[in-house]
Amino acid sequence: MMEKSFNERFQEFDENYQAIKERIAKAAYRSGRSHEEITLLAATKTVPVEIINYAVSQGLTHLGENRVQELLDKYSALDKEHCDLQMIGQLQTNKVKYIVDKVSCVQSLDSVRLAKEISRLCEKEGRVMNVLVEVNIGREASKGGVVPEGLTEFIDEIRLLRGIHINGLMAIPPICSDKKILCRYFSAMRQYYVDIKAKSMDNVDMICLSMGMSSDFPEAIENGATMVRVGSSLFGARAYH
Ligand SMILES: *Cc1c(COP(=O)(O)O)cnc(C)c1O
Repeated sequence: MMEKSFNERFQEFDENYQAIKERIAKAAYRSGRSHEEITLLAATKTVPVEIINYAVSQGLTHLGENRVQELLDKYSALDKEHCDLQMIGQLQTNKVKYIVDKVSCVQSLDSVRLAKEISRLCEKEGRVMNVLVEVNIGREASKGGVVPEGLTEFIDEIRLLRGIHINGLMAIPPICSDKKILCRYFSAMRQYYVDIKAKSMDNVDMICLSMGMSSDFPEAIENGATMVRVGSSLFGARAYH
């Protein structure tokens, strides 16, 4: 297959972006909220920086990268002034040093060790990193994240670290074609989010519930997501080389 030109991909993005914004607005409406309460974060793995910058020029404000190396490769060319870059993929402790000064949030916080390393490096630079605690909502061995029953204890253990600030929760539910089961995962996430918020712990804010991807973001919004992470529905299917 011939690779698409940038112009074709720009056009494809325009159409996809409009459609996604409409679907977000409709799902927000169905859940009694305004579309302004939902942040669209573009998952940009494998997407060339030219396309990403075009997307930013069209109004996209939040980007998420998965892998440290890819983030570093794109970083210098990225239009950082007009977007907020976040880490959404699993992060190894020994790689934190490469990204602490480059992202506004680590969404994939899943261990005390990682929390301590982020905090240590941020404190050294006199800054505070926003983090989301990743929840392994399906209790899958293949996925990162804190198991739901350990969530409160985990948060309590890291919340007073001075270089991080807990801003919410993130989850990637199991792949599942049954929307009812999927919604059960999302609504369980919302319940954890609400329960933790109700505890009013120092240095813990529940202002971001990041869940929902291309295949399921409307269901995630209907179940309380405040941020959805969308990749292939925005940029087209990923081509891995
Ligand atoms: C790739 C990715 C997404 C987006 O996935 P799509 O199905 O392409 O929308 C969201 N979150 C994370 C953590 C990802 O790695």
